[in-house]
Amino acid sequence: QPGLKQRLLDAHAAAAEFYTSGLLKPEAQIARQFLTGRGFDRDAAATFGCGYAPDSWDALSKHLRSKGFSAEELTNAGLSKPSRSGSLIDRFRRRLVWPIRDSSGATIGFGARKLFEDDQGPKYLNTPETPLYKKSQVLYGIDLARREIAKSGRVVIVEGYTDVMACHLAGVPVAVATCGTAFGSEHIRVLRRFLFDSESADGRIIFTFDGDEAGQRAALKAFDEEQRFVSQTYIAVTPGGQDPCELRQSAGDAAVRELIERHTPLVQFALDREIAKHDLDTAEGRLHAIRAIAPLLARVKDRGLVEEYIGDYAGRLGKEKAELRRAVAGAA
Ligand code: ATP
Ligand code: MN
Ligand code: MN
Ligand code: MN
Repeated sequence: QPGLKQRLLDAHAAAAEFYTSGLLKPEAQIARQFLTGRGFDRDAAATFGCGYAPDSWDALSKHLRSKGFSAEELTNAGLSKPSRSGSLIDRFRRRLVWPIRDSSGATIGFGARKLFEDDQGPKYLNTPETPLYKKSQVLYGIDLARREIAKSGRVVIVEGYTDVMACHLAGVPVAVATCGTAFGSEHIRVLRRFLFDSESADGRIIFTFDGDEAGQRAALKAFDEEQRFVSQTYIAVTPGGQDPCELRQSAGDAAVRELIERHTPLVQFALDREIAKHDLDTAEGRLHAIRAIAPLLARVKDRGLVEEYIGDYAGRLGKEKAELRRAVAGAA
């Protein structure tokens, strides 16, 4: 008799099939149009297993019940939930769905995007926490990216499902995304298996979040989270506040590849961001700039790296290294 987890995996496999076949039906035209509008053709939709959750309260639940899954199993899987009247209803309705797979390719959850502006609920819905789906560990696209991550020693972290698709199609097959949660230490733990076992021992994590303020802030948070990897963490900022999917649509595949190639060390990005807020032509501006970057440098554990940046930035600010070093020590 299969265990609980296997039953939930089986239910997910059946649900993924249900959704992908739903995408071919006439009623799913709006979902197909969304994909086409984002630059994704049928092959791309098939590779990523995109599907459509129909405009029905319980089409999936009924389908899976008829295949022998119990109401309890479907609820535990996060695919269905009890309605107020106690009947079983589908979690995702009238939405485009992406299967979220583990590194072996088994579907463990879904992400679902609203297609009708006026529908209630958030733009994106995800599977809730279940025995299969641990959101702090989930990386969308890891099944497709793991080999390339291990080969190249690089991983690109983007914000959304469409960004993962865009990167892979553009020739950046190492892209993965968290699913509506901040990137954190548990994601690093998952990646470490692939990234730091790679042939090039210096694995690189490249954040390519949306080029807006929120995206940059999210990338900078990694600074606080994972000191151990700060020297291996980079950022690539998309132009004009775009995300990688929008960049691919406006500027093409090569622009996405070039964006990733131009990655900057996260520390340097954070320092430059602070420095840009000050007028370096005045003594007062330079003093304030030092005060702004010292606490950042104080948080970097890799002393060699700190010394390197002290050299760089003392030069740029027209200060003695010793002065910057003192400011860093004072800010620690
Ligand atoms: P669009 O589908 O319009 O292109 P996007 O994919 O660019 O949107 P963003 O709004 O930039 O999405 O959000 C990026 C990611 O964050 C999404 O792919 C999704 O995983 C997650 N997300 C966004 N909004 C929500 C939300 N309301 N609830 C949960 N997760 C969300
Ligand atoms: Mn965004
Ligand atoms: Mn976005
Ligand atoms: Mn987008």
